[in-house]
Amino acid sequence: MTLTWQQELKKCVKCGACMAVCPIYRQTGREEMVARGKLNLIERVDLEKPAHKKEIPAGWLEAIDSCLLCCSCEENCSKGVKITEIIAAARNRQSAKQGLNPIKKSAFALLLNRFFSMARLLKAGSFMQWLLWRRLPRHSGLVRRLPLPGIDDKTVIPALPRQQLDDYLRKRKAAPNLEPVLYFPGCATRYLYPQMGLDLIYVLEQLGFYGVVPPEFNCCGLVTWGAGDSKSTMELQQRNLAVIQKHAAIRQIVTGCASCGHALKEYDGLPADCEILDISEFLFRHKEKLEKLVGSRKLNRKITYHDPCHLRKGQKITAQPRWLLQLIAGENFVEMRHPERCCGAGGTFGLSHKALSRKILAEKTRDTDASGAEIVASGCPGCLLQLTEGALLAESSWEARHPVTVLADLLKNDAGKENRKEVE
Ligand code: SF4
Ligand code: SF4
Repeated sequence: MTLTWQQELKKCVKCGACMAVCPIYRQTGREEMVARGKLNLIERVDLEKPAHKKEIPAGWLEAIDSCLLCCSCEENCSKGVKITEIIAAARNRQSAKQGLNPIKKSAFALLLNRFFSMARLLKAGSFMQWLLWRRLPRHSGLVRRLPLPGIDDKTVIPALPRQQLDDYLRKRKAAPNLEPVLYFPGCATRYLYPQMGLDLIYVLEQLGFYGVVPPEFNCCGLVTWGAGDSKSTMELQQRNLAVIQKHAAIRQIVTGCASCGHALKEYDGLPADCEILDISEFLFRHKEKLEKLVGSRKLNRKITYHDPCHLRKGQKITAQPRWLLQLIAGENFVEMRHPERCCGAGGTFGLSHKALSRKILAEKTRDTDASGAEIVASGCPGCLLQLTEGALLAESSWEARHPVTVLADLLKNDAGKENRKEVE
């Protein structure tokens, strides 16, 4: 933030335009749940100084905690108030004073630990997951087998693959005839959805590019930033910037994760000649080549699109994914009602505020149902997981997929297959 949070807070003119778009306010109708109300409360505590418990206004903690950081309010704010940065600063102040929630603290420690890493933990978990979880018949993901605290029958978690993206890439042969680009897969693709990463790499190769995936890339830091853990966020940023510097000959960094792209674009210290591109932006740059590659092939299933908040509101990317889906599906691509509305995932919000998250999700599910689509595409692994849970809760038959996996199938002449085989 170039302005201090106090200056940023003063920019708010209390117009209430943010009320029309806040998913939390839509569900609760409470002033302190919308940006205007949150900013009012935050203003009453000096974020620079430790405040005594008694000085914290009632509802302050709940207000700063109940936010998806979806940027919907920022998109609608004519004064350009950096609302999500102020909320993250307030969370940071709170966690500095009271400490992080122990579950988040342990998870963030794993993100930073090079030996007891998230990758190792999840791989170990992949061997035991079948004891507690079972695969969903029509969707990707798992649901519990036995009663588990805080988790109900409809909570979908991703299946943990035995082989993570890096395991597949270790076997890859160098391709000197292809132009290198850095590919930042992000944790979800790397550890949970390796097929998504392999599909993106495949598409790049079809266009003449080699996706270089340095194993030293860390988490992008969006989740630690959102939780108010600025120390871990800075550490993760520094590590990723060092990797980018190490590959100084490659100046384009592509990602298929809306949240990672949003975080990377905000890094302080990103080299000026370095470009971060969402995969939809990158493909649009190579429009003619891709159109030629796709040729007359078209997806024969109806597909719709959900705008990930971090792509639409965070990066202002709306046209490129739609162009891509139009190319893939032609007339079979249909818009849903309110594609811009948040799905309610919001990083860990879906776990910490399950009831509220599901109410927001139910709106998205109804809009997806009404589109009549068999597939809902979205360029964010977090949204895909949330949408899958939405389909399960509503007993809908559509599936949630990344646009690039649909494109990869089409290029492999595999599109429309009912039971697509995921790597395990
Ligand atoms: S839209 Fe912006 S200026 Fe208006 S009340 Fe909301 S945060 Fe304040
Ligand atoms: S970021 Fe999203 S959830 Fe948070 S106040 Fe703004 S619109 Fe509401």
